[in-house]
Amino acid sequence: MKKVSRSKVVYTFSPRHNPAERVKAGEEILLELEDAFGGQVKDEKTAIENLDWTKVNGVTGPVFIEDAEPGDTLAVQIVDVKLANRGVIAVIPKQGVLKDRPFKAKVKVVPISGGYVHFGKAKVKVNPMIGTIGVAPENGEHPTGTLGRHGGNMDVKEITRGATLYLPVFAKGALFAAGDLHAVQADGEACVSAVEVSGEVTLTFNILKGKNVSWPILETKDCYAVLTCGDSLDEACSWAVEEVVKALMQEHKWSFEEAYMFTSLVVDLKINQVVDPKKGVRAVIPKKYVSIESFCHAGFRH
Ligand code: CA
Repeated sequence: MKKVSRSKVVYTFSPRHNPAERVKAGEEILLELEDAFGGQVKDEKTAIENLDWTKVNGVTGPVFIEDAEPGDTLAVQIVDVKLANRGVIAVIPKQGVLKDRPFKAKVKVVPISGGYVHFGKAKVKVNPMIGTIGVAPENGEHPTGTLGRHGGNMDVKEITRGATLYLPVFAKGALFAAGDLHAVQADGEACVSAVEVSGEVTLTFNILKGKNVSWPILETKDCYAVLTCGDSLDEACSWAVEEVVKALMQEHKWSFEEAYMFTSLVVDLKINQVVDPKKGVRAVIPKKYVSIESFCHAGFRH
């Protein structure tokens, strides 16, 4: 299996990066991922405010996928996720949902063993997930701390083993990269950090030729989820619901009004994260009501 070392790290999603590796559709590849702090937190005495912030939220890659062209969709299958045996959680003043409250910077190092994160006497079942995952964007370079139609720092707790993420391809070869592994994170990521952890992910890629999703779409066992973002949760929700309405219209040949009604019945709106300047949500719909093809369009369409 091809392997990309954690030393092959970039801090932007960009069409200008040289590929770290090339794969064909269907070929497995393993990416080693450093934790979101770039491995700089050695122990609980580490002063979080003194980290080198240019070395934070790196992504391993990019991986060039042969035959992926602008206007296609890249299907990323998450075959496996393996975690290191320690994770790091941090609170940082002026960050997170309670950023207006006074509190001190603090780092906590937590052991991960037996399928659990051990937080003092409390234990939390691990759900290994990829926080930052995406491709070269449509325009310019996007820092890996941000998110958009190309993916990025989406922090979706369902991007985990067994899921498939569909991403729009904007650059030749897609230039895929991933990082920011979490041992566990709840919807919202309230304090700004999850259990940040290093590890490795095994992936395969497929290409939906000539079919274009407008936003990342996540496929889980039973559902599709449209992953959107906006300057507010309201804006993010409107993008997400609109995308589902369009897919339902295409799938069932319904009018806008009928499809809009149906979203109220079966589509759950869930928060991904509210701690980045761009808020992220997902609109979740059972697969029995819509196919991935109905989320795809010929050529570019926003
Ligand atoms: Ca993140």
